[in-house]
Amino acid sequence: MLDLQGATVTFDGTPAVDDVRLSVADGDVLAVLGPSGCGKSTLLRAVAGLEPLAAGRIACDGADLAGTPTHRRGFALMFQDGQLFDHLTVARNVGYARRLQGASRADIRTEVAALLDLVGLGGYADRLPRTLSGGERQRVALARSLAARPRLLLLDEPLSALDTGLRGRLAADLRRILVESGTTALLVTHDQEEAFAVADRLAVMRAGRIVQEGPTGDVWAHPADADTALFLGYGRVLDGAAAATLLRRAGLPPAAGAVALRPSAVLAGPGPGSGPGEGTPGDGIPAVVRSFRPAPDAGRLVVSVEGVGDLDAIGAPGWVVEPGRPVVVRVEAHAIAVLPGAATGPAGGAP
Ligand code: ADP
Ligand code: MG
Repeated sequence: MLDLQGATVTFDGTPAVDDVRLSVADGDVLAVLGPSGCGKSTLLRAVAGLEPLAAGRIACDGADLAGTPTHRRGFALMFQDGQLFDHLTVARNVGYARRLQGASRADIRTEVAALLDLVGLGGYADRLPRTLSGGERQRVALARSLAARPRLLLLDEPLSALDTGLRGRLAADLRRILVESGTTALLVTHDQEEAFAVADRLAVMRAGRIVQEGPTGDVWAHPADADTALFLGYGRVLDGAAAATLLRRAGLPPAAGAVALRPSAVLAGPGPGSGPGEGTPGDGIPAVVRSFRPAPDAGRLVVSVEGVGDLDAIGAPGWVVEPGRPVVVRVEAHAIAVLPGAATGPAGGAP
């Protein structure tokens, strides 16, 4: 439906969006995930027609959008801070675009009621925005964006202004609302959880470029390089001898590339030298504790494994261990990723 070919946006000759190729299929939700300043908002503004392209093209349903101004593209944009009209009720905010389109009062009333139900704000029609919580305001903003029946919804960090717990719940709701309304959407965010909760496909952006794109789960499980792995929440990337040693000692097949480990990939338990009452020593790789920090769900350790170096590890809740003590560690194969080729960027190999 939406197709970007080599899209480039420059500011004073410096590319903020650099040769981006992306497409969004009808009814799909694509998230562009990248750190602050990598060009996400600029990309979205270019799609909306608010930034001119220095090179490349953006097409919708096969038609080049170059000559189509923003208001003729049929897209809706939703920002982090919703931007509601403060003097209008929730119902009038949501019905705004349809009034401009000249829809009848009766139609608008029915549509607004259905949209408010969709976003879980059934009884809120007559409230004013200032009486709403942050999460409720974002729901109203979403309903208002959907009211115009955009052929494409553009979302710029729609949940980033909310607190963590609420963000998680609203991310799941946003996914449901987009799917139920059959909306095609392009979402940009720096928040990996938001991207994973909402999108079918994920594109990772760095310094203006898309470095990896694919179904969300595939990108998550197989990051393209070390920087991407670290950005996606892998805690450490090993390369060379450290990676080979870890794989061998964990009983995993050897691999050519670097190995990225999630913080939950290494489980530590009492070592063979531990006394009774400290649990049963399991099979595993001998290691020495460098540091230990208790946390509510699991102890957080850094352990040193000979030939591998320091690794983050987790321990059973309630288990306490001193630095310097021997422990054994197990490696969870599902929480590691073998990266293609050699590692780039800040890899944390053996010292
Ligand atoms: P993101 O949304 O990923 O945080 P932006 O798209 O806002 O990133 O910005 C990308 C880069 O482009 C940044 O270096 C930013 O400073 C620059 N930039 C954005 N808008 C402008 C502008 N209007 N003029 C000059 N530079 C800009
Ligand atoms: Mg931005």
